[in-house]
Amino acid sequence: MAMYSYSLIWTGIYVGINLGIFDPEIPLWEIFITLYSVNAIIYFSIRSGVSQLVKDPSLTATQMMVAIIAVTFVLHYTTDIRGAMMSIYFMIMTFGVFALDRVKMMMMSVFISVSFSVLILYEWNTNSQSQIFGISFGQWMILVLGLSWFVYVGGYIYNLQQRIRDQRETLRDNEQRLTQAYDDLTITKEKLEEIAVRDDLTGLFNRRHFLERLDEELARAGRGGGGVHVALIDLDHFKRVNDKHGHQVGDLVLRKFADVARRELRRSDVIARYGGEEFIVLFTEGDTMSVQQVLDRLRTEFAIACTRDINPEIGATLSAGLAAWHIEDRPETITLRADLALYRAKDAGRNRLAVA
Ligand code: GH3
Ligand code: MG
Ligand code: MG
Repeated sequence: MAMYSYSLIWTGIYVGINLGIFDPEIPLWEIFITLYSVNAIIYFSIRSGVSQLVKDPSLTATQMMVAIIAVTFVLHYTTDIRGAMMSIYFMIMTFGVFALDRVKMMMMSVFISVSFSVLILYEWNTNSQSQIFGISFGQWMILVLGLSWFVYVGGYIYNLQQRIRDQRETLRDNEQRLTQAYDDLTITKEKLEEIAVRDDLTGLFNRRHFLERLDEELARAGRGGGGVHVALIDLDHFKRVNDKHGHQVGDLVLRKFADVARRELRRSDVIARYGGEEFIVLFTEGDTMSVQQVLDRLRTEFAIACTRDINPEIGATLSAGLAAWHIEDRPETITLRADLALYRAKDAGRNRLAVA
C-alpha cells in the first residue's frame, strides 16, 4: 500500500509540475528513489522476519515517520495547492489507527505538527516569499485540530479492536476449557458406568446388572436362540472358612473364586456376584453337557487354586445348581430351578454339581 501510494503521489507531482502547481526545482527522482529504497528495506525486513525482533513487527511507526518526513519535504515545493496536499498527513495517520495505541498516535501527531512547524519556520527564516505567514498559520491550526481528532477517534477504534481481540481470546479459552471439561466428564461417566455394574470385592458384575442381562438374554432366546443355561454357585461351609481363618482370608477366597471363574468361563458367559458367597452364571451358548463340563472344571480348579495360593488347610469347595432354559421360562423361574438344584447338590454332600 505504501509503494502504491508513493507511486500515485509521484505521478501526481509529475503532472503537477507541468501544470505549474509544483515548484519544478523539486528533486522528484531523488525523493522517490530514496523512498522506494527505504520501503524496500522495510519490506525485506518484514518478509525475512528480521522485524520480529522489534516490538512492533509491522514497523508501522517507522513507515509513518518516513512518510511524514517525505510529505513535509514535498510540501516545501508546493505552491497554491499546499492546503490540499496536507491532507496526505491524515492519509498517513489512517495507517496508524489499527496498530498504534492512543499515546503513540499522539506522538505521531506531535511529530507531524513539529515537522510542519519546522517547514514553516525554515521558509520564514530563509525569507522565502512563496508562502504567506497568515495562511501557513491557519493551515497549522487546521492540521493540529484534525490531528487531535485523529488521536481521539483513532484511540477509540484501537481500543475497540483490542477489546474484540481480547474477547476472541477469552472465547477461545472458554471453548478449550469446555472441551476439557467435556472430556473429563466423559471419562468420569465411563468410570461411573463401570462402577455401577461391578461388585467391589471381586470385580465381577453385580446382581442388578446380571438381572438386566438375564432379561435381555431370555428375550433373545425366546426369539429362537436357545442354549441358555443359568447356574447358581455357593461356596461350601464358608462360615467355617471365615471362623477358622478370619474374614480377610474369606475375602481372599472370594477373590480367588472370581479369578478362577474369569479364567475358566468363556467370553460369552456372564458371571455375577449374586450375594455374599453366592455367584450366578449365565451361559449363552453350548448344550447342557458342555456347560456341565465348564462348571466341573471351575469347581476343581477353584479347590486347587485355594489350596495352592491361599492355604493348604483351607479346603474351600463349591456346590452348583444348573438349569437349562425352557420356552416358557422367565428370569425367576429359571433361577428358582437352579436354586433348587443347588440345594440338592448341598444335600448330596456338597462339592458337586446338580442339574435341574
Ligand atoms: P453352606 O455350605 O451351606 O453354604 O454353608 P455356608 O457356611 O457357606 O452357608 P451360609 O450361607 O450360612 O454362610 C455364608 C457365609 O458367608 C456367612 C458370611 O459370614 C459369609 N460371607 C458373606 N459375604 C462375605 C464376604 O463378603 N466376605 C467374607 N469373608 N465372608 C462373607
Ligand atoms: Mg450361601
Ligand atoms: Mg455357602
